[in-house]
Amino acid sequence: MHTKYIFVTGGVTSSLGKGIFSASLGRLLEARGQRVTIQKFDPYINVDPGTMNPYEHGEVYVTNDGAETDLDLGHYERFLGVPTSQANNVTTGRVYLNVITKEREGAYLGKTVQVVPHIIDEIKSWMVNLGSTGQYDVVITEIGGTVGDIESQPYLEAIRQLRYELGSKNTLIAHLTLVPYLQAAGELKTKPTQHSVKTLLSHGLQADLLLCRAEHQLDLELRRKIARFCNVAPEAVVAAMDAESIYEVPILLKEQELDTLVMEKLSIEPKDVAVEHNLDNWIEFVKRLKSSREEVEVALVGKYVEHQDAYKSISESFVLAGVANNVSVRIRYILSDDLTEANVEEHLQGAAGVLVAPGFGERGIDGKLAAVQYARLNDLPFLGICLGMQCAIIEFARNVVGWDDAHSTEFEPDSLHPVIDIMEEQKKVVLKGGTMRLGAYDCHVEKGTKAYSIYQAEEVKERHRHRYEVNNKFRAELENHGMRLAGLNKASNLVEIVELPEKRWFIGVQFHPEYRSVVDRPHPLFKSFVEAVVGYKKEIDAKASANGSAVNSKTITSSGL
Ligand code: GLN
Repeated sequence: MHTKYIFVTGGVTSSLGKGIFSASLGRLLEARGQRVTIQKFDPYINVDPGTMNPYEHGEVYVTNDGAETDLDLGHYERFLGVPTSQANNVTTGRVYLNVITKEREGAYLGKTVQVVPHIIDEIKSWMVNLGSTGQYDVVITEIGGTVGDIESQPYLEAIRQLRYELGSKNTLIAHLTLVPYLQAAGELKTKPTQHSVKTLLSHGLQADLLLCRAEHQLDLELRRKIARFCNVAPEAVVAAMDAESIYEVPILLKEQELDTLVMEKLSIEPKDVAVEHNLDNWIEFVKRLKSSREEVEVALVGKYVEHQDAYKSISESFVLAGVANNVSVRIRYILSDDLTEANVEEHLQGAAGVLVAPGFGERGIDGKLAAVQYARLNDLPFLGICLGMQCAIIEFARNVVGWDDAHSTEFEPDSLHPVIDIMEEQKKVVLKGGTMRLGAYDCHVEKGTKAYSIYQAEEVKERHRHRYEVNNKFRAELENHGMRLAGLNKASNLVEIVELPEKRWFIGVQFHPEYRSVVDRPHPLFKSFVEAVVGYKKEIDAKASANGSAVNSKTITSSGL
C-alpha cells in the first residue's frame, strides 16, 4: 500500500484559507479510516518563524518536539487531534541551511551545488519524509504563498518531479482559488481562477481539484465553465463558501463529497473507523457551537492585540472551552500599553475573567501588572500564560511580599529582587533562533492543589517557549505569603504552575496550555477557567439584579478591535 500525497497550492490571492482547507480535508479522510498528517512548506528564508515578530507572522506555534512553527500547524492539530513535529513545517531557510551545511561537510563530492538539482532534491526529500515512515496513509502538503510568486517556484518543481516519480494515482493537486463577486456586474467571475490554473500549468502541474472560495453559491453552469477552462471534471470544482466558523468547513466540504472525490482519484480504500475518528463528534460539536449560548466576556491583555492572529491558539482554545461549557466566550482584546492602575477598572469593567498573555520585551509590562493586580484584588478568575505567569509573580512579590523593586531580569537586570531570572543554561546562549526552552517537558502537579483537581493527574507534559523562569531563591518567601507552587519540573527544579488558593481561580503557568486544545478536547485549564468565568458572571449578575441595576457589560476596547 502506497502512501498517498496531496499537495495544496493557492492562487489569485493569499489568505484564502489553505490551512483550514488542508486541515478540513485531513479530518474528512481521518473520518474514512485514514492515518493522516499535514505538513506545511513556507517559502521564506527564515529557518523557522521563531525569530519573527507576531505582527509579521501571527502566532508562533510550538510542537511537542520543540519546533517553532507556522500557526497553521495549530489548525492541523486542533482538527486532526494528532500531534505534529519539526518535520511538519519546512521553510526555504531550512532547506538552504541543510544544503549549505552538507556542502560545507563535503557531502556533494566536489559538485557545483545548485537550485536544480540540490535544492529541489532537498525539498523532495522533506516532502516524502513523513510518508516514508510508514505511519501515514495520506500526507497532505500545504505550500505557503501563491503560485506565480518567485519564491514558490522550487516547491512547484519539486511537486512536478514527485508527481512523475510517484505516479498520478499516488499524488493529487488541490488548488485553492478565488471566484470574486463583482457587485457592478452582479456576477461571480471565473477569470482569476482560469489564470491561476494556467500559471500552475506553466510549472507543469495540472490541478486535479479546484477549491473555489466564493461569497456566493457556485451554480452548476459556473462549475461547468470553470471545469471546461481548467481541465478538471465539473464535480472536481468544489465550492468553498465563506463559513461562519472554521469548524463548519469540514461539514460543508463533506456535503460536496470531497472525501469520496479525493479517495476515488487516489484509489484509496475506506477502512474501519474508530469511534473517536468518525465525524459524529465533530457534527455534534458544530451543532453546539452554532446553538445560541449565553455569552461571557474575558479580557485578553497583551501587546500584540491589533493582530488577530497573534493569539490564535488562545482564541481557539476559548472557542473550544466555550462549547465544552455551553457558553460563547467573547474576547475583549486589551492593549497592555494602554493600561494603568488608574484606568484598569474602566478597561476591565464587565469582563468576567482576565488572561494575561505570553510575550517578550518590556513594552506593555506595567499594563499587564496592573491587570494582574486588578484581577487579584477583585478576585476575578485569572489565567497567566508564560509572561502572564511571570507578571503574576512580579505583582505578588511587589504588592503582597512587599519587594517594591521586584522584577524580571528580562526587563530590570539590576533589581535586588529578580523574582524572574534567566535560566542558567540560557546565559551562554548567543544565537536567537530555536534556542529557548522549547517543546514538551514534564510537570509534576502537587496533590491538593487546584491544578491537580483540574488535571486529575500528578504527571503531565506541557509545551514551553521561554528563556526566563521563577527564581528559586525567592520561592520560599512567595510560598510564605500564600502563593502555592502547584506544578514543578523535578528534573531541572523549575516552577511550572503557581496559584493563589485564597482566590476563586487564580493560576499562572510557565507553559502554553493553548497549544494542546483540540476539537472536543479543550485543554483542561481552559475548560476550568471558562467554568470559573461563568460562575463569576452568574455571581455578579445575581448581585446586580439584587441591587436592581444591570451590570455594565459595555465593551471597551482600547485596541480599536
Ligand atoms: N519573555 C518571557 C521568557 O522568555 C516569556 C516568554 C513567553 O511568554 N512565551 O521567559
